[in-house]
Amino acid sequence: MAGAVNLQTEPAGRHWPVLQIASVFAAIGLICALLAAPRTGLHLLWDVAVPLLPLLLVVAPGVWRNACPLATFSLLPARTGLSRRRPLSRKWQTRLLGSGILLLLATLPLRHLLLDASGLATAVLLTGFALAAFSLGFVFDLKSAWCSGLCPLHPVELLYGSNPQATVKNAQCRACSGCTAICRDSTAGVTPLNANCSKVLPTLLVGGFPGFVLGWFLVELQPGWSWPHAALVAYGLPLVGMAVSLALYLPAWRTWRKGAPRVFAFAAIAVFYWFKLPDLFGFGNPGHALVDVHAGAAPWTPWVARIAFIALLAGLMLRRGPARAWSTRPMPERKVLHP
Ligand code: SF4
Repeated sequence: MAGAVNLQTEPAGRHWPVLQIASVFAAIGLICALLAAPRTGLHLLWDVAVPLLPLLLVVAPGVWRNACPLATFSLLPARTGLSRRRPLSRKWQTRLLGSGILLLLATLPLRHLLLDASGLATAVLLTGFALAAFSLGFVFDLKSAWCSGLCPLHPVELLYGSNPQATVKNAQCRACSGCTAICRDSTAGVTPLNANCSKVLPTLLVGGFPGFVLGWFLVELQPGWSWPHAALVAYGLPLVGMAVSLALYLPAWRTWRKGAPRVFAFAAIAVFYWFKLPDLFGFGNPGHALVDVHAGAAPWTPWVARIAFIALLAGLMLRRGPARAWSTRPMPERKVLHP
């Protein structure tokens, strides 16, 4: 599973701290925008940041791990010497990753019910994640509890980032304490299935996520529905899609153990961009465009864009070759035994 580990002997370049500070200010600015100008804040989050992130995770997940503002919040106590840096047992590392998967699956349907339309609710959610990241970093060692544990984006990093195109320097860990039994950043070919010893929830994610994403995009809540009715549809369709996808994945995995997880991860991101790309270029829901080229383009443009972009993703995610890590492992700091 694990490829060769490259030890990082030089300090990460100065551009990383600049990027980290810029990303923290961008996150604070986003939360302010969500509160003061909700339409702008919601557009920046759901129509700019969220659609670009999966592509970054496919190409260079290490860049995101270095720049993520929540990672910087979580590691702030360690950087300032305030963290108690307790080692987290392997059992709890497994539990936290499983909880992160459940948090992801619980949060995504909330977009339909609340988050897509409420700047306040989205700001409260992001602030809650920042406080959780900071608190866990205050008690536990480096990335063990948040960045490689409870963070609801971490399962997506593992899913889409298993075949990265580039390995960067690790700019968050100045020295390696061995905070996680299997370092997500330094292990080549890391996936949800080999990131910890539990199999049930990671299998649910890998096999079920394409159907979950498809079900999510098929949800259309109608005005006048009661809250329980809307919640049933918002959670029900993704979960039904997940069950169907898992039913297809399990026999595929039994006959093709190496390839099936990668193909299903690709299927999940392909479904995401199939639905999202037309919106991004002004062909879908008005107000969700990143760049509106709708006026001068032929009607078949979204189809060509979808096919070309998904073919590019297939080339990136399904290519065979030596497995790469997200980032190089820093020199060891001290020996930590995982209880
Ligand atoms: S490089 Fe070392 S300290 Fe950093 S996340 Fe990996 S195991 Fe933890």
